[in-house]
Amino acid sequence: MKILVIGGGGREHALAWKLVQSPRVLKVFVAPGNAGTAQEHGLENIAITATSDLISFAQKENIAFTVVGPEAPLAAGIVNAFQSAGLKIFGPSQKAAQLEISKSFAKDFMQRHHIPTAEYAAFTDAQQAHQYIDQKGAPIVIKASGLAAGKGVVVASSLEAAHAAIDQILIEKSFGAAGSEVIIEEFLQGTEVSFIVMSDGQHVLPLATSQDHKRLNDGDTGPNTGGMGAYSPTPFITPSLHAQIMREVINPTIQAMAREGTQFTGFLYAGLMITPEKQVKVLEFNCRMGDPETQPILLRLKSDLSELMEHALNGTLDQAETEWDRRVALGIVMAAIGYPENPVQGATIKGLAELHLKQNETDDFHIFHSGTALGGENGQELVTSGGRVLCVTALGDNLKIAQQYAYELAKQIHFKDSYMRHDIGYHGIDFIHK
Ligand code: ATP
Repeated sequence: MKILVIGGGGREHALAWKLVQSPRVLKVFVAPGNAGTAQEHGLENIAITATSDLISFAQKENIAFTVVGPEAPLAAGIVNAFQSAGLKIFGPSQKAAQLEISKSFAKDFMQRHHIPTAEYAAFTDAQQAHQYIDQKGAPIVIKASGLAAGKGVVVASSLEAAHAAIDQILIEKSFGAAGSEVIIEEFLQGTEVSFIVMSDGQHVLPLATSQDHKRLNDGDTGPNTGGMGAYSPTPFITPSLHAQIMREVINPTIQAMAREGTQFTGFLYAGLMITPEKQVKVLEFNCRMGDPETQPILLRLKSDLSELMEHALNGTLDQAETEWDRRVALGIVMAAIGYPENPVQGATIKGLAELHLKQNETDDFHIFHSGTALGGENGQELVTSGGRVLCVTALGDNLKIAQQYAYELAKQIHFKDSYMRHDIGYHGIDFIHK
């Protein structure tokens, strides 16, 4: 069969790479893909982005099903459009994707169904928002309600910063329509983990656990980013905590979505805070896999991803099982200086050719591409074309070994003005050695 993957980041590279490993899969098209997917065996990039053109392509090529990587096409209703054309597509409908698209929808939903989350209030009026903040005090968290690519959240340590965030979102309209409403949340302390499952609308299949590193700099300092590195599994999620998360968050969410007539099919990502008292609180829902969590998670997946997705599309996910590599996978994001605000682009990437050759002979690492393109003088050189450029992902017998291996590999890759964190995995390592 042939599969179409929508997107062009590291997450989509990993999804397409994993899907094409199945003996049942002849070819995976990636729209639009990147230089990494262009060079991978069995993958082919297609330069199409408009939904109507993607539908025509899927019909012409007899695509068995389409997989949507990022949230933007889901928010735009790509799943509804494909289904109306009689095509199979893995991802939630536009209505179900509200869990990610609208933070106020997600918070109201959680409150309605007693799913644990930070205490909150929503405002469209700046005056009322300012008053609420004065009443609550700092630290406090201010969020633009709509999609803002991770930039619409301010964790304010002072009242001054909180008031400024309100003005930035509601008055200056820095996030446009995404900021016509603000959510003001209680500040939660604890450890953040990522919990991703597949759902067919009724049944749930949990994927391996993971932990992202959202801040730009070492020691979790600096601005929030899309994610600077991740590893899987995370030691923070013990079997009993896993059961608690399924019982208190995942199962009630999938069941309540179905009861409300918005069945959730696709990947559901819960960003969770585990408090020191071992309470689980939902920070956010995403309606797709995380980037970079996907890269280490899929490097460990031994099961056939195309089979799992077919089960999800047929409503038989209760019959599916996953098998995971027992080792730990850790991915380091190599970014360009200036990311996330204004990344430098167009630098030649060196050292990848040798690693690309090597990775075809081993299963213990893979370099997933994000912001890469073919360019340079002959049009065949690998150049940087985005903020996050690569995710160097490696397996090791434990977290420390995986970390060392991934950093050794990253050291072999060079481009001008590259930037990475040097402590990916440190929370987990500290926790294990505590
Ligand atoms: P993403 O880029 O993952 O889509 P987002 O824009 O949806 O992010 P959130 O995940 O809600 O935003 O928040 C971003 C980050 O801000 C969280 O990962 C967490 O580190 C921090 N954060 C959010 N809410 C809280 C809270 N209530 N207490 C403490 N920290 C928080």
